[in-house]
Amino acid sequence: MASGRCPTERGFSGILVSVRPVKTTLSAGLLCLAAAALLAQQAAPPGAGPTPVVQQALSVVVLDAAHGGTDAGARGESGIVEKDVTLALARVVQAQLERRGFQVVLTRQADESPTFDERAAIANGQRGAVFVSLHIASTGAAGTAMAFYMPAAPTSETKPGPEASGRPLARWQEAQQPYAAPSRKLAELLQVQLGQKLRGSREVPQAVAVRQLRTVAAPAVAVELASVAVADRKPLDQAAPALAEAVARAVAAFKAAYEAGAN
Ligand SMILES: [Zn+2]
Repeated sequence: MASGRCPTERGFSGILVSVRPVKTTLSAGLLCLAAAALLAQQAAPPGAGPTPVVQQALSVVVLDAAHGGTDAGARGESGIVEKDVTLALARVVQAQLERRGFQVVLTRQADESPTFDERAAIANGQRGAVFVSLHIASTGAAGTAMAFYMPAAPTSETKPGPEASGRPLARWQEAQQPYAAPSRKLAELLQVQLGQKLRGSREVPQAVAVRQLRTVAAPAVAVELASVAVADRKPLDQAAPALAEAVARAVAAFKAAYEAGAN
């Protein structure tokens, strides 16, 4: 078991959104992701978000090594810290994507802590990009991974309040909503690959209101590798190339469908 927890879990009282009946099987890592969504109202700046435009050419992958700096993320009893592993993982995934011809942009290059919105802005400033946020779970079978996407249906948290009535829905906080369908498609493609490359991984992704994804105006997914609870990093480092290949294959398959207008 992991002794440490994602700091965003503090005060977390429940799953915000889950369109699948998985409530009782959610991992602590998933709770970490979902809890981060609670920060949305406080963290997101006011004002309209970027106008959603479906890009026809997809050549950029924005890789988000989650956490960093003062935000360590999940922490295991053996001393494994999520922020360290996500950065190492991002570099392995970057190399695999670049081998396939994608341009990769990292949301952080070192032990830094850009805000959720700074990370989203990096993706939103690209043309033809997808966004992949990399996490390490608190628990779960070592070497398995799960993909997440933002649910399409408005939630009580994402519905515009009375003060927003009459304003366009494409506010900053709903930037991901127009991309819900392609994001789900990307997550499904990714989960299939994860199931093949990382034995024991589930076959379907999960829809969760992940804060990292909410303000991204592009197809966006989060992937969480289990877990910081392992005794040493070896299983995580060993899983990195397989996870990287899964991401690269999924993005390549997504690119083909996306550019053909299938998403
Ligand atoms: Zn995390």
